Amino acid sequence: MTVTVQPKPLTNYKARDYRMLIDGAWVEAADGKTLERVAPGHGIAVSRYQAGTKRDAEKAIAAARRAFDDGRWPRMTGAERSNILLKAADLIAARADDLAYLDTIESGKPISQAKAELGGAADIWRYAAALARDLHGESYNTLGEGTLGVVLREAIGVVSIITPWNFPFLIVSQKLPFALAAGCTTVVKPSELTSGSTLVLGEILAEAGVPAGVVNIVTGTGPEVGATMTTHPDVDMVSFTGSTGIGRLTMANAAQTLKKVSLELGGKNPQIVFPDANLDEFVDAAVFGAYFNAGECCNAGSRLILHKSIASDVIGRIAEISKQVKVGDPLDASTQVGAIITPQHLQKIQSYVAGASDGGATLAHGGEALDFGIGQFMTPTILSNVTADMAVAREEVFGPVLSVLTFEAAEEAIRIANSIDYGLSAGVWSRDFDTCLTIGRKVRAGTIWMNTFMDGASELPFGGYKQSGLGRELGRHAVEDYTETKTLNMHIGARTGWWMPR
Ligand code: NDP
Repeated sequence: MTVTVQPKPLTNYKARDYRMLIDGAWVEAADGKTLERVAPGHGIAVSRYQAGTKRDAEKAIAAARRAFDDGRWPRMTGAERSNILLKAADLIAARADDLAYLDTIESGKPISQAKAELGGAADIWRYAAALARDLHGESYNTLGEGTLGVVLREAIGVVSIITPWNFPFLIVSQKLPFALAAGCTTVVKPSELTSGSTLVLGEILAEAGVPAGVVNIVTGTGPEVGATMTTHPDVDMVSFTGSTGIGRLTMANAAQTLKKVSLELGGKNPQIVFPDANLDEFVDAAVFGAYFNAGECCNAGSRLILHKSIASDVIGRIAEISKQVKVGDPLDASTQVGAIITPQHLQKIQSYVAGASDGGATLAHGGEALDFGIGQFMTPTILSNVTADMAVAREEVFGPVLSVLTFEAAEEAIRIANSIDYGLSAGVWSRDFDTCLTIGRKVRAGTIWMNTFMDGASELPFGGYKQSGLGRELGRHAVEDYTETKTLNMHIGARTGWWMPR
């Protein structure tokens, strides 16, 4: 049984038409074609985007290149850029309801969650604005009488930013303000499924005072627009969030011209739970970690590694809560799990569940698609008796599916946690400080939560070990990621000759 919230039909909704932002102008695609987005929770067309082409991407890259090379953005002072980013943050906050609504109807996420994401995104723009004023290099006055060394941080140049559909506004906000703070110019490609809020961001940035050509937004598909953005010789860096497969392709494409790459990829994040943990706190974090954003989240806590002595009690408690999680209308304020992004993705999730059941896992709860007559939805699902070799324990399912494994000794839990290709995040639950720190130091992941899960702050770096990615976003070094280092090696006084002794 699942608590459901029947989606209300979006009657009289008129699909919004969007253009692309290239060199300060809102334009149509070169060949006039468009893409239509059907709302995953409501089953009707809600947005029409330009289907950008290679030619459009090239125009956008040329505009970004000009805007960088003539210095209209990189040669502003840090304070000037900072003030514009702060204005952008205010405008994002002022339009948060509209932006959250767009993200909700296009992605199917619950409206309450989309609003919280918009609050988080505005905070990131403010944080990046502060960093814009503090970007600095180093000096070396310790190299002897005749030498002074100065290390400059310079904006890297033109940055391609490619984002996925699961957190449309939040993820572009983890990249773009830092690139802008550093003085870079950009071409942004949002997912073809959820481009609306990124295009509205283009309007906001123009209003905030970002000059034409500094931020270009090209909609369209990855193989057409994204591939151009990752191979073009005038692009200096690619910042990508999405699947590990396309991340690998992005890196290979960028390697042709040796661009810098920053990759935020998949995760299969374990939560390791010891018998002395506060289990009331943990079960709440377990359902949150698994079902937040319908599990369509790189940080999803999709792998529980429970101590054997507590496993059956904990699984029972999680199953009880799972029955009460509200699934359905993304626009209803009480909904906790919204729609699944596309019908094909729902099938993919279900085939993972079927494969695990066939392989010997036990379906402890859920597993079914929910038929509301519109959209596509799935019940919160728990699979127990999962073994570490099963696909459902190793691969990113990207749906509301929790896999439960067990351990007896701490070393075994660490081995299971580290046995896969991903290393994005992990959780450890114990009242014993030693246990938390031991696990935290030995699990190979970019973020370790201790007695909490999926908390975050603009100040804390985020990114993955192993095939979960390259580089870190957020935190005070995030701006530096968008810079080159230049050494000024200065000679003072008479220089010692090499060929002609002086
Ligand atoms: P993708 O990795 O396919 O897409 C991410 C972005 O990359 C999109 O903007 C996409 O464009 C673009 N892209 C696709 N092909 C190329 C290419 N050849 N060159 C450059 N850019 C390209 O993720 P999906 O959205 O298709 O999701 C597939 C799976 O990826 C999910 O089921 C999930 O497992 C995982 N995923 C992980 C995410 C994470 O945060 N770690 C986020 C999203 C997905 P477009 O799709 O518009 O064509």
